[in-house]
Amino acid sequence: MANIGAVTRQIAALEISSKQNTSTKSTRSGTSHQKTSSQTSVSKLVTKFASSTSLQSTSSSSSLKSLHKKGTASASSVSKLPTSSKPALTPAHSKTSSQSSQVRPEIDIGNYDGGFEIENEKRGEAVTGEAAEELALDSSVSRTRPTREWHLYDFDIGRPLGKGKFGRVYMVRTKCEPQYILALKCLYKSEIVQSRVEKQIRREIEIQQNLRHPHVLRLYGYFHDEKRIFLMLEFAGKGELYKQLSKHGSFSERRSAVYIDQMADALGYLHSKHVIHRDIKPENLLLGINGELKIGDFGWSVHAPGNRRTTLCGTLDYLPPEMVEGRDHSEKVDYWALGVLTYEFICGAPPFEDLSGYNATYKRIAKVDLKIPAKVSAEAKDLIMKLLQYDPEKRLPLSDVRKHPWVVRHRVKGPSVSGAS
Ligand code: AMP
Repeated sequence: MANIGAVTRQIAALEISSKQNTSTKSTRSGTSHQKTSSQTSVSKLVTKFASSTSLQSTSSSSSLKSLHKKGTASASSVSKLPTSSKPALTPAHSKTSSQSSQVRPEIDIGNYDGGFEIENEKRGEAVTGEAAEELALDSSVSRTRPTREWHLYDFDIGRPLGKGKFGRVYMVRTKCEPQYILALKCLYKSEIVQSRVEKQIRREIEIQQNLRHPHVLRLYGYFHDEKRIFLMLEFAGKGELYKQLSKHGSFSERRSAVYIDQMADALGYLHSKHVIHRDIKPENLLLGINGELKIGDFGWSVHAPGNRRTTLCGTLDYLPPEMVEGRDHSEKVDYWALGVLTYEFICGAPPFEDLSGYNATYKRIAKVDLKIPAKVSAEAKDLIMKLLQYDPEKRLPLSDVRKHPWVVRHRVKGPSVSGAS
């Protein structure tokens, strides 16, 4: 194990000074991921959060850029806020940028409802013994990517973003410069232990912390206290993709194609890191501040270098025939899921859904009983059929998905949104 003290000192030495002007003056150019001064400051920030690993051009930094564009307070304009243990942490209100090009309105992170403390009183117990060791998760002592040490009081807490199985998620801002906006997710250790998913959660966190891609939700760091684990996640400004799908019923082919292009890009990256996602579905996808897709849940991911797995997992409607039939599976399960996703985006429901029950769905998957509605364009139909192949080896490779005429035709003109394809 590396000498943690030395690593911490090294990271402390890398901490950025508050040269806020450099970042707030920068402008954003379309969806470009070209380096701008604001991105440079993001790189530094991430250097501070994470280890000295260099940062790729990512849309998380682009999100930050757009947040900066909306305006962040300069160091001096941010009033000292109460500690995170107190509710109602609304930040000071905007100063208009017309008054001064230097002073910009700060992002409103909303009102904190005191949920972390209220919940902590009544929910969860302290975990002891082996489980406590398993769940003593702290990115500051992570072997691969150590970060600085984090605590709940390092954040101003804003509005609740949602509730998950193991706890709440809040919009937060780091108190330290340059006041990074994040989603802070809390997980109750005792509930993790009750559900017997200690190892799975550990694995999810370890996998996610090592990933850097514009369409993969970034995990910047994590820390814990007696009862809880906190995950410092990239803030997905436009929320859940599933909500959008429910609201609209289905997406236009153009919008679907853009998402599928981004998914193929992200999955290609994950597979290059030997990570098979295995649980692709709209519920696990979030949308960044610019509406870009983010894979946001790694609960079923498996880190499997050259490995073939036989565990049955994932969501029924998205399971490929090899998993339904209990055969070995590979990263090509995600190709299948991409085909299901394409269908669901355009048609509003997954292709093998059978309301008469699980068995009927299983049978339809195993037979690849695929009926594509007439409203679907010939090109989209072609892509769906090429992905929903019974034989995993016959499924269209992800690089070819990105070159498919349907995807190419709808691809947003301009610089690539990908930093890692
Ligand atoms: P989860 O525990 O991941 O299911 O999260 C619960 C809810 O919180 C989700 O359904 C989202 O609405 C919201 N949420 C989780 N993570 C984020 C994030 N990084 N950015 C914005 N909202 C989030």
